[in-house]
Amino acid sequence: MGSTREKKMEQFRKKKIWPSIVIFIGVTVLCTCMVAMFVMFFTTYVVTTKVEQMYQKSVLAGENFDHLIEKGMTIGQAAEALGDFMPERSGIYITDENQNEIISTGTSKPDFDMVGSIYLSENIIVIGDSGQDYSQEDKDSLFMIPMEKVFAEAFERSGEDVTEDEWLREAVLDQKFWLQTPLQHQQYQFYVKHTLQIQRQDVIYMCAFGMIAVLMLLIPIVFLFVNTIRAIIMQQKITKLLYLDMVTGGWNWLYFQTFAGRILSRHRNNKKVYAVVELHVERYHNYCACYGVKAGEELLESMNGFLRARTMKGEIYSRYEGADFALLLCCKGQNEEEYRKDCQKRVCSLLAELTGLRTEQKLHFHAGIYIVSPRVAENGRHYMDRKSIDISQLYNCANTARMETRCQEEKRISFFDERMLDKQLWNRKVEENMETALREEEFQVYLQPKYSPTDEKIVGAEALVRWNSPTEGIIMPSRFIPILEENGFITQLDDYMISHVAKLLAEWKIQGRKMIPVSINISRAHFAQEGLAEHICQLVDAYGSRHELIELEVTESAFFDDKDILVETVKQLKAYGFHVSMDDFGTGYSSLNSLKDMPLDVLKLDTEFFRGENSSERGEIIVREAIRLAKGLNMRIVAEGIEKKEQVEFLTELGCDMIQGFYFAKPMPVSEFEEKMEKDV
Ligand code: C2E
Ligand code: MG
Ligand code: MG
Repeated sequence: MGSTREKKMEQFRKKKIWPSIVIFIGVTVLCTCMVAMFVMFFTTYVVTTKVEQMYQKSVLAGENFDHLIEKGMTIGQAAEALGDFMPERSGIYITDENQNEIISTGTSKPDFDMVGSIYLSENIIVIGDSGQDYSQEDKDSLFMIPMEKVFAEAFERSGEDVTEDEWLREAVLDQKFWLQTPLQHQQYQFYVKHTLQIQRQDVIYMCAFGMIAVLMLLIPIVFLFVNTIRAIIMQQKITKLLYLDMVTGGWNWLYFQTFAGRILSRHRNNKKVYAVVELHVERYHNYCACYGVKAGEELLESMNGFLRARTMKGEIYSRYEGADFALLLCCKGQNEEEYRKDCQKRVCSLLAELTGLRTEQKLHFHAGIYIVSPRVAENGRHYMDRKSIDISQLYNCANTARMETRCQEEKRISFFDERMLDKQLWNRKVEENMETALREEEFQVYLQPKYSPTDEKIVGAEALVRWNSPTEGIIMPSRFIPILEENGFITQLDDYMISHVAKLLAEWKIQGRKMIPVSINISRAHFAQEGLAEHICQLVDAYGSRHELIELEVTESAFFDDKDILVETVKQLKAYGFHVSMDDFGTGYSSLNSLKDMPLDVLKLDTEFFRGENSSERGEIIVREAIRLAKGLNMRIVAEGIEKKEQVEFLTELGCDMIQGFYFAKPMPVSEFEEKMEKDV
């Protein structure tokens, strides 16, 4: 889990759309500001240019006035003479140094309450006009043109019948003001009245110009907008595809990893408790083999639909791979036990409903649950480490728990427990070291003697493997045989044991020791191998040992795999002269029928018959009848796991042929066994 592919996909998913959106907004704001500034500067430019022209006219008028005075005219004559050259609606206002009026032409006068200055080529003093009505804002700035008023008036059609031309020339702004002009005769102050007019056509030109500017800026904005929207849609589509499970049409594992992680992170500091569940369809491959791959996929699709309907708000699910689904469920309760109960109830009902998903076919579902419970801090607050929110790891725990239910009909749900992880680690360790162990001969043959109950002498032995690991010490078979059976390595170990026993028997012969039959356990997995009898024959013949001294123990469960092959192999082994025994008779399933078809030599009663404090009366009846049955079929009987004297007496009385158990001896290394044999005369 957590492969490079997933990391790359995650990186791609994180590629955000935000930069495009930010660029789009930025460009839009920038363009709007640019248009506004452009219009502002343009208007200011037009106005100041006009004012500057007017000022030049004022300066000219002042120079003329100086000239006329020098020529000997009185102030009144000069003013009158100048008036003839002044434009219509203009005027002249002359004061003495103390601003006492001397001459005033025109209809209005400067309003000295409204004095301002603007700096163009030089500092120009601007004074308001007494005939103009100024609002408070006007007083703050004489040339702050109220644009909204100008535009409103510009587009207002007067009711009078005017020609198009007249209408265009109509002034929408008529700003009167006075400009102070410097004179050579400094004892006078000279003011010239001007009118700043904005005509309707000016406004229309301005609007048209502004609109062109806006349009030109709008093109990149629209382009950017379209691009951003396209990027958003694309991103959404790709994200959807990234999270799509091609088989079910629902969410995939990447989605689960991302969003389950987010949910857990969001609630990591509160009391909410979640469970990561692995839901597994048992024997899915078999289902596909029977009904077709398409039917299998349809089943997964229906499961997807079912889970969609059953998951609540704040819960998610996805297909992991194969026929495994991952779920993140919310658990209700106040404490660990209540969370477990609630989760178990939910998952149980899910499994029950899922079983009925296909009425015509029988389906089996198993689930592994990992409760992600927050820790409780000293102050009573709930919290969860960020590090512990590793979805793959949590799912792995749920998977470990589910593996515990494997091949079990009655146990469908399992909760994760730390010991399971230890077990998994152990499995891995065994698998990593088994080959070296075989090569380095770390597997050792131990022998457990089989005694004759009548004279209590050794009449046989069972070879039992022990793993003498350099790191772990002596490891018992129950800790590694099931793992080797599952991964198939057991066949190699069985071969190893056969060879070692054959070699040992050959050595005993050379050493002139008492020859006794030794039994070797053959795993059920071995019986699937073709030509097994021949193979065993070759292994034994490599050391020239006598076949009748070797007994092969087959466990009862092997009789259920493929009975025909088993019967055939047993017959061949017998034909080669080997002895064959049924090990652990009485465990699991009774295979009396197998006894009928197979020419077995020995029946080994399972240790379980002799377990428990007081082996019950019913148990004794079964043992008695089993011995009778074996004798009737002309088989020898071995009782395993005998630990008590009474058991030995009971079996002796029944005529049991051999007894193997701790009462006499435990399994021991070969050297120890040889010593025991020597004493056993
Ligand atoms: P098994 O073949 O039924 O072997 C008998 C088991 O019962 C042995 O356990 C033995 O130590 C134990 N036993 C014998 N007498 C007593 C007794 O009085 N009390 C108790 N409590 N136990 C007793 P072991 O050696 O741990 O082996 C366990 C199983 O592992 C064997 O059961 C056999 O199925 C398997 N096994 C052992 N060696 C091999 C091997 O070389 N190949 C294969 N395929 N399986 C092996
Ligand atoms: Mg055995
Ligand atoms: Mg046994």
